[in-house]
Amino acid sequence: MHSDLWVEEKFSDFLGLRFKVENVLFSGKSDFQTVDIVDTKGHGKMLLNDGLIMVTERDEFAYHDMISHLPLFVHPNPKNVLVIGGGDGGTAREVIRHSKVEKCTMVEIDAMVVDACKEHIPQTASALENPKINLIIGDGVEFVKNTKEKFDVIIVDSTDPIGPAQPLFGEAFYQDVFNCLTDDGIVVSQGESSWYAMDIQQSLLSVLNNVFDQCFLYSFSNLTYPGGLWSFTFATKKHHPINDFNPQRVIDSGLDFDYYNHQLHTAAFALPTFVKKELKGLIQND
Ligand code: SAM
Repeated sequence: MHSDLWVEEKFSDFLGLRFKVENVLFSGKSDFQTVDIVDTKGHGKMLLNDGLIMVTERDEFAYHDMISHLPLFVHPNPKNVLVIGGGDGGTAREVIRHSKVEKCTMVEIDAMVVDACKEHIPQTASALENPKINLIIGDGVEFVKNTKEKFDVIIVDSTDPIGPAQPLFGEAFYQDVFNCLTDDGIVVSQGESSWYAMDIQQSLLSVLNNVFDQCFLYSFSNLTYPGGLWSFTFATKKHHPINDFNPQRVIDSGLDFDYYNHQLHTAAFALPTFVKKELKGLIQND
């Protein structure tokens, strides 16, 4: 028990976020990154990779709802889903709640993240025991290059573009993603902060536009990522995220959510004007 311990995410050379820690549950260094899990006073258990916050028990539902249910309620029949990264298990947990999903393959590069989350954050990781989830410990970049399988929806639940996640923001990777999507496939990716990482959003969307005809950005409110407003990119071969979305399908699914709902689905694509200006020509949200 530590009496006055705080964890600080140093997001940049001018911004940090501090959280009161009750207990350090796990600290390790894998071949890829440092992995820490702490129990915080206000946000429950928190996973940090390389000192950056990945997940907290308090608000993980917002991120995991929005990264998974948006594409899964747009694609008419998402039978085969691929998650790249997502080692905490939260995204795969949400994916397999969809009755249409027959299989969810998850490719996470770092076994230490998975093992530490299984032990300390069952809220997200316990779903990884589900037989619908095929967990592969390996590099997502290599996986999409080599797989012969076709996926209806691919979700790139990655860390920021540093270390092993850097190629997950590049064109070669998205060309391979395009090739292993079905003819009406959709890819959604962790899209960073419009407040603090517009350069990354512009670069990721430029890459996506070189590969896909239709690219969009949608956003949601997050409690523990810098700036509060966070985003996902949505690139699609066929289905439009709003015009091909049937709100009744969400209602009829009988699924209960804490963040996502059929109204927020469409609203998430309505972006602040500064974001629309900065991403002009790169997104088709209007
Ligand atoms: N919600 C999180 C965020 O954006 O803060 C992302 C969560 S999840 C923990 C991200 C995972 O992506 C990490 O566990 C990391 O190991 C994994 N990852 C990074 N590069 C990868 C790669 N090339 N292939 C597969 N997984 C990768």
